[in-house]
Amino acid sequence: MPSTSVRPNILLVVMDCVRAADFNPSESPPNLPFARELAGECIRYTGAVSPSTWTLPSHASLFTGLYPWDHGVHSVGDIHLSENIPTLATQLHNVGYSCASLSANFLISRHFGLTQGMDMADWGGWWEPYLRYPIGLSQPLPPGWARKSVTRLLRKWATNRDWTGPSPLLQRLSPQILERTYILDAAHRVLLKLKGSTRVGVTSPWIEPELVRWVSKQPSQQPVFCMINLLDAHEPYFSSEEVVHGFREWVRYAQTSQERQGWISGSSRNTPEMLHVLHELYRTHIRDIDNRIGRIVKVFQDSGRWDNTMLILTSDHGQTFGEHGQLFHIFGVGEEGVRVPLWVRFPEGRNGGSTIDDWASLVDVVPTVKRELRMECGTPPSYALPLQDLGTRPREGPVFTISDSYGYITQYSLSREGSSQGTPIQVATYAGDYKLVMDCSAQESFRAYRILTDTREEHNIWSESDPNLKDLSLSAAQVVRKMLGAKAPEATINPELLARLRVWGYVE
Ligand SMILES: [Zn+2]
Repeated sequence: MPSTSVRPNILLVVMDCVRAADFNPSESPPNLPFARELAGECIRYTGAVSPSTWTLPSHASLFTGLYPWDHGVHSVGDIHLSENIPTLATQLHNVGYSCASLSANFLISRHFGLTQGMDMADWGGWWEPYLRYPIGLSQPLPPGWARKSVTRLLRKWATNRDWTGPSPLLQRLSPQILERTYILDAAHRVLLKLKGSTRVGVTSPWIEPELVRWVSKQPSQQPVFCMINLLDAHEPYFSSEEVVHGFREWVRYAQTSQERQGWISGSSRNTPEMLHVLHELYRTHIRDIDNRIGRIVKVFQDSGRWDNTMLILTSDHGQTFGEHGQLFHIFGVGEEGVRVPLWVRFPEGRNGGSTIDDWASLVDVVPTVKRELRMECGTPPSYALPLQDLGTRPREGPVFTISDSYGYITQYSLSREGSSQGTPIQVATYAGDYKLVMDCSAQESFRAYRILTDTREEHNIWSESDPNLKDLSLSAAQVVRKMLGAKAPEATINPELLARLRVWGYVE
């Protein structure tokens, strides 16, 4: 172990829902001015795949270095991380780190076991994606002590009390809100007008001031680990004037549906133009995230910690806008939903400005941090690889991702023996230039693509006689067996958590 004074700080920033294709620092015109600068200090792992298509399993993988079928946090298993599985925070805490978790996403909370090892953990209320603070980005909190106090009280309520679930009225209203986001949007617009602003603001603006407060309390020689989740790119999307100009365009925006279940059932459909508008709004939020990362890094710079900080910048899954027939995330394993940014800024920006194209996974993050700290790794699972080794030695086996559910409720109908009607567990495996997808809907089926050239997954090359594909299909089948062998959800299901997931449109 290096001496305490030289242990690097670890800053893990998860940009919830940000897909790799829309986090490109070299695109023109630039959408990400801060990331463009930051790229010079980072190694970008351009073949990064999220282990899952939704928040809970992916974060659990990021924090443990295990795939969902091994840590057990997925819709077919439990959605609470077992205390017997050490997290990165637990391990860093044990070697003297101060650990903090600041998450806009309420799922990264103690209610799901995801704050284990944290000395301080704070998370957003479930309502926060519905609220974009109509403020300038330079003002992290709305002005006025009253609003500050109300915000803090509401958040304290969300953080400290056990879930009692949103009111039955809100549960009924929620799908309506997502189906008719324009109602909330109109309210946002009125507020914007009052503030003289044309931009929809950010969600959970309390994160940066909390970070400043927490970092400033740590002695300067104290190494810190901060996990930050930013939720700005999550649906629903409100109408910034820079994308939706004038009343006519707003009327078109108002006709879009952002309700996932309606999209799946076919009761609501968005035209390609509507999907384009939603995608453009999503990109404005990614620009907000870029700005926020700048402010987060500045906290580390101002406290004199930045030089000796290891930054991991990534996302827990992607987001889709009609590609492969999908809306938003959770369903399917198309590239838009599972390819994520993964940037690592090693202390002093070592080897920065480079890219590595090999397949990488969020399960690699824990061994990467431990390698950097020269911590004892024990016997990590053979599938995880310290990113420092990527490109220098071959990975054992493929990289995986799973789409584990139609949502929690639907999994109730998933029999232990196999899949039920319309329950598409999908597993994708990546190796070499192949991507193989195993679909467990009504009947098991396989698809495969030369993914490096066929990035839209248009030409299915599945053939059982290709030994590479056959191997990948066996690996995928093994994963499905492990998933279905997991504990049935009935034992652990919590109706109050379900109510919350329902409000977010994750379940019917
Ligand atoms: Zn997420």
